[in-house]
Amino acid sequence: MTEPRIPQLQPMPEDWQRALAVVAHPDDLEYGCAAAIAAWTDAGREVGYVLATRGEAGIDTLAPAECGPLREREQRASAAVVGVSSVEFLDHRDGVVEYGPALRRDIAAAVRRHRPELVITLNHRDTWGGVAWNTPDHVAVGRAVLDAAGDAGNRWIFPELVEQGLQPWNGVRWVAVAGSTTPTHAVDASAGLDRAVASLLEHRAYIEALTDETPEAYAREFLTGVATSAGERFGGRPAVAFELFNR
Ligand SMILES: [Zn+2]
Repeated sequence: MTEPRIPQLQPMPEDWQRALAVVAHPDDLEYGCAAAIAAWTDAGREVGYVLATRGEAGIDTLAPAECGPLREREQRASAAVVGVSSVEFLDHRDGVVEYGPALRRDIAAAVRRHRPELVITLNHRDTWGGVAWNTPDHVAVGRAVLDAAGDAGNRWIFPELVEQGLQPWNGVRWVAVAGSTTPTHAVDASAGLDRAVASLLEHRAYIEALTDETPEAYAREFLTGVATSAGERFGGRPAVAFELFNR
């Protein structure tokens, strides 16, 4: 008997220059995606980050008024580690982000400001696979990103954006969803993995509140595990996997 062959992930498209990553919380990109971002910025591509919230409800022992500014600083530092200098916050409320026109409009506005060919987001499905339930903010933001990539190109859905000087941008060619249960594509994480670990470690206050392990051991173990698991479907190289939607 032959072993069933695991379907392999395809390499991500490379014929693009600008990407915009739009996620719910500080740390969403660092939990698995940052090695790909490091590889892209190394190759001279531009990547911007947009966070729907400041993650102000993310640390049990810190009230939101203190937590929000702290997590914003941590997010800017972790972006810098992988070559990203543009970090914006849409100021939706952490934990209760609502899918709807307001969120789609804010994301469409960001897409028009940045004019990306590739948009990145995080798993928008109900679960992480099996019985691991996803959080409502990830579901709301992920779905809104997939929709807003199209809204950004339509002059009439949010006419107030044109009045603000944001002309339609029809140039988004793909939306890549990280953390998907059904990935289709991948990026080699070999060169970016150390910086991905350093990038996650910038969320030190969050990690220290989360685990009793040393933050260094926790971050390396987590990210190596994710990259190795994706790599099983990418020729054995450590990888960051995405589900790629064409537009
Ligand atoms: Zn999150």
